[in-house]
Amino acid sequence: MNKTPRLAIVVPCYNEEKALPITADALLNLLDRLTNDALVSGDSYILCVNDGSRDLTWETIEQLHSKDNRLKGISLAHNRGHQNALLAGLMTVKDRCDIAVSIDADLQDDPEAIIEMVKKYRDDDAEIVFGVRSSRESDTWFKRVTAHGFYSFQNSMGLETVYDHADYRLMSNRALNLLSEYGEQNLFLRGIIPLIGLKTAIVTYARNPRVAGESKYPLSKMLSFSIDGITSFSARPMRWIFLTGASLLLIDIIVALYVLGSYCFGSSVAPGWTSLMLSIWFLGSLILIAIGIVGEYIGKIFIEVKHRPRYAIEKSLLE
Ligand code: UDP
Ligand code: MG
Repeated sequence: MNKTPRLAIVVPCYNEEKALPITADALLNLLDRLTNDALVSGDSYILCVNDGSRDLTWETIEQLHSKDNRLKGISLAHNRGHQNALLAGLMTVKDRCDIAVSIDADLQDDPEAIIEMVKKYRDDDAEIVFGVRSSRESDTWFKRVTAHGFYSFQNSMGLETVYDHADYRLMSNRALNLLSEYGEQNLFLRGIIPLIGLKTAIVTYARNPRVAGESKYPLSKMLSFSIDGITSFSARPMRWIFLTGASLLLIDIIVALYVLGSYCFGSSVAPGWTSLMLSIWFLGSLILIAIGIVGEYIGKIFIEVKHRPRYAIEKSLLE
């Protein structure tokens, strides 16, 4: 372990022209304190990843860079989403740092927790330090409930994520190199990173409201993110289809015995138009859902086998 490691703070940014100057200020101030306390080396820096923003995010990064070159940047050619932007940043700093911390551009995750994270790396030899939210009081009631539903649902589906940990974490250079071996297109870093192994630790922090701008994760995106997470890490939904089919078969056998029994004892079976209709619709929907779930996996295979690049870096300011 390097006792005064070179730290890189990776910040994915999508339409963050309003938040970025405030965030850059806070993070540079934090870097100053970390360097003065000799917790990290003097050549530590911040890397902002512009994820194909449509506003003046990249121009803002350029300006901030010209004022203080510890703030660096790369710009992706298209908007590839938070996970890919984060990966692009982490892979860029991989060989240019000893430790990297990823943090959102909106300061919702308290940057002060980075100090604790660095200490866990230096003193406890932790190679991955997860930032875990201690409270979500600043989130709306709706966001809190849906976010908790999101974690419980995933864990019940066999995906091992750290509870209330988003993508705020420290990774050592070694952890980053191991991460680079994971080649999946359907990137769900929260699911992959616990799979890396290595020594981990947890730091808790309070979650704040956004400093400026608005959330890019509405409910629909969170939902698709959750489904993506599950289908990328677990085949359990397909097992469920099989189990549902098997239970229905059992019910079917019981009903068949009942019908045959009533036939043998002479009572005619009631003209069950309603039950017939209902069961047709019920089975029809089950079959469609089942095909949909299988399709979800096939779609993933289709995307994975193409091995397309996950991001393209168009411009960079790394000096
Ligand atoms: N983000 C990104 N690409 C996207 C959407 C979001 O890089 O397509 C970044 C965004 O700039 C922010 C982080 O991902 O730094 C988290 O987004 P946001 O704060 O909107 O999500 P929330 O905290 O509301 O879940
Ligand atoms: Mg946010």
